Amino acid sequence: MTEPLKLRIDLHTHSNASDGELTPAELVRLALERGLTTIALTDHDSVAGIDAAQHAARGTALEIIPGVELSADVPQGEVHVLGYFVDWRAADFEAMLEKFREGRYGRAEKMARKLTALGAPVSFERIKEIAGDASIGRPHVAQALLEAGHVATVTEAFDKYIGRNGPAYVERFRLTPEDAVALILRAGGVPVLAHPREVTGWVFPLVKAGLLGLEVHYGMYDDATRAELARLARQSGLIATGGSDFHGLDKMAHMCGLGETNVSPEVVDKLRKKAEAVKQENAA
Ligand code: AMP
Ligand code: ZN
Ligand code: FE
Ligand code: FE
Repeated sequence: MTEPLKLRIDLHTHSNASDGELTPAELVRLALERGLTTIALTDHDSVAGIDAAQHAARGTALEIIPGVELSADVPQGEVHVLGYFVDWRAADFEAMLEKFREGRYGRAEKMARKLTALGAPVSFERIKEIAGDASIGRPHVAQALLEAGHVATVTEAFDKYIGRNGPAYVERFRLTPEDAVALILRAGGVPVLAHPREVTGWVFPLVKAGLLGLEVHYGMYDDATRAELARLARQSGLIATGGSDFHGLDKMAHMCGLGETNVSPEVVDKLRKKAEAVKQENAA
């Protein structure tokens, strides 16, 4: 008997178009090395890596799903909404993402000022250098803190300074979770609530706003959490998706590794069909 072909699908990954460590081409190479058949590139507020990823995967067996991850700040914490099969080349979508990225820029500058006032000086210039062309984020600020010797680890940077309740935390451009869902739908994408364990109270209001999926098989979740979330997805009529939230091999090695969580190909089919329905609805 031959082993059934194992399809390995990872629907949540980051490249250096946001705060991931690898270039889109390097991410593709690693995905191929690990025998993955499908990955979604879901950079924070950016679709800038998608063309490069698709180009790198051309002629291979790897499919790249165009995606994005939008963040909203809420009193309970952060709500992240993934968007699958978004029209990443649409000018108005890109213009909106650009606005979010600009907001991140000013925010990083404010964090640098706060850190300096707190006696842990880091320069905004250095944070910008670390981020390069990427959508600037707290991991880049953490890196600068680490380099300057103010902390020994990235975790310490978050715990001591830039975590949500830290003294140097600055909120992003304010987007409501409902807005994030609406924006993804408008871009022809399928909105999915990312790593929802701490924010399951948002499922009901977001379903009313048009949410279509729930990230049940998140890399860092244990089986009990996944079972609970799977139940919630079923009850709410949501597609149960999953992904690693891979950010890199080095810098963010504490997060889940690429391809270390898997979903069935039917999940991708469902997302694809939903995306077609959303696009038809938009065109009507
Ligand atoms: P931002 O989008 O700039 O608010 O940064 C959010 C990103 O910071 C997340 O996507 C994670 O990659 C990273 N992050 C958040 N909390 C922590 C933490 N405690 N330790 C390490 N990385 C974190
Ligand atoms: Zn990230
Ligand atoms: Fe996230
Ligand atoms: Fe993520």
